[in-house]
Amino acid sequence: MKLLFEKSVAGRASSILPVCDVPVVDLADNCKRQRPLRLPELSENDISRHYSQLERRAHGVNNGFYPLGSCTMKYNPRVNEAVAALPGFTDIHPLQPAHTVQGALEALSLAEKYLCAITGMDAMTFQPAAGAHGELTGVLLIKKYHEARGDTARVKIIVPDSAHGTNPATAAMAAMSVVNIPSGPDGCVDLDKLRAAVGPDTAGLMLTNPNTLGIFEKDILEITKIVHDAGGLVYYDGANPNAVMGVIRPGDMGFDCVHLNLHKTFSTPHGGGGPGSGAVGCKDFLAPYLPKPHVGVKDDAYCFRGDCPESIGKVKSFYGNFLVVLRALAYITTLGRESVADAAKNAVLNANYMMKRLSECYSVANTGLCMHEFVLTLEKEAKEKHITAMDIAKALLDRGIHPPTMYFPLIVHEALMVEPTETEGKETLDEAADIFIDIYRQAMADPESVHSFPLTTPVGRPDEVAAARNPILRYTFE
Ligand SMILES: *Cc1c(COP(=O)(O)O)cnc(C)c1O
Repeated sequence: MKLLFEKSVAGRASSILPVCDVPVVDLADNCKRQRPLRLPELSENDISRHYSQLERRAHGVNNGFYPLGSCTMKYNPRVNEAVAALPGFTDIHPLQPAHTVQGALEALSLAEKYLCAITGMDAMTFQPAAGAHGELTGVLLIKKYHEARGDTARVKIIVPDSAHGTNPATAAMAAMSVVNIPSGPDGCVDLDKLRAAVGPDTAGLMLTNPNTLGIFEKDILEITKIVHDAGGLVYYDGANPNAVMGVIRPGDMGFDCVHLNLHKTFSTPHGGGGPGSGAVGCKDFLAPYLPKPHVGVKDDAYCFRGDCPESIGKVKSFYGNFLVVLRALAYITTLGRESVADAAKNAVLNANYMMKRLSECYSVANTGLCMHEFVLTLEKEAKEKHITAMDIAKALLDRGIHPPTMYFPLIVHEALMVEPTETEGKETLDEAADIFIDIYRQAMADPESVHSFPLTTPVGRPDEVAAARNPILRYTFE
């Protein structure tokens, strides 16, 4: 498929832009471009076709099953899009006086109230734009808490090896040193290793729960207690509360701070780096450090509180990605209290059903019940028959299924991490399981055959070694 620049024909144009309706300002010469801007010259039809073609080449939740573990690629109800597109929300500006945007402020305040109720936290910020950004914000709160008490020795963040990869990266980004602790044979945090790791230099612990093996940490109360007893705080990576929302609350299990990926569990379509929200909730004692501004109430009206002298400052402009928060609010209010929990229970049911069906031939990294996702391992098949996780993932493409997350978590070799989500029906799960199993059987019967898949996609199997050795990172014009 050609790029827009390659489709460009000199002199062709479209009239998508309206006529300028504000006074044209003449710029000083030294502010003007020296060369004309290089833009493709195309008709509206050319552009429309181009993007329709691209759209057909992409795989989204609307095209088929998308079991991308750790990403919660579920169907997001369209009504939430409609709410977020209301002109009263889209046609306002963050610098408008508060009395002209009371509805928007109320929406932020309500979303904070409901998400605090779901997480068991006391206050929440919507400034962070993504999960990792929320983690950074959370760890900065923890850091500030210790600093404010004059306890400067607490510079270490403990991260179990079953954590999401962003957790150690976050701790390092916040200029803390990372202490890794290995998990036990059951895939959960090893309590003895944790006890040995904590001390007067412990700032806190970051726990991904359910962890990246899809397991609920069984000793979670003991984990938060050990860290608290040592003087540290506990951070809950709640990027995917899809298995637990409405059922358990991090705040009740001793966590001081949590982030949620509104773009995963709470109904914002994501992928390709689109706008997200890594909402960060915390307990009262951390609330003074939250990023500012924060919505409050004064004289019976919503306002932005200016009195935040201890705030860590801003982590993003204004209030974060407002429309993502609106979708979350619409999602929670349409579901209601009971259905939030039902969604979580169905996510767990679907994952366990699929895991059970696939375990007919695939090896599961950790047996026992899983939460919203589970991890398969092709380690044995790779050693014995050179059939890798990559081979299975590529073969799925030909069958209309988006591959699971591959080679993650790092603690499992030849990993395929499957997350079916609650929005798939039994028929889809059965159909997908049949395809997974069919591919496995074919691979075992004829190992050579699976190395060439996919055969029907626009791009086949790229030469990954060449791509890594000689990357072409930039388009060059002739
Ligand atoms: C997705 C995810 C993150 C990172 O979220 P981003 O929005 O991609 O930055 C962190 N932790 C867990 C457990 C996740 O699944």
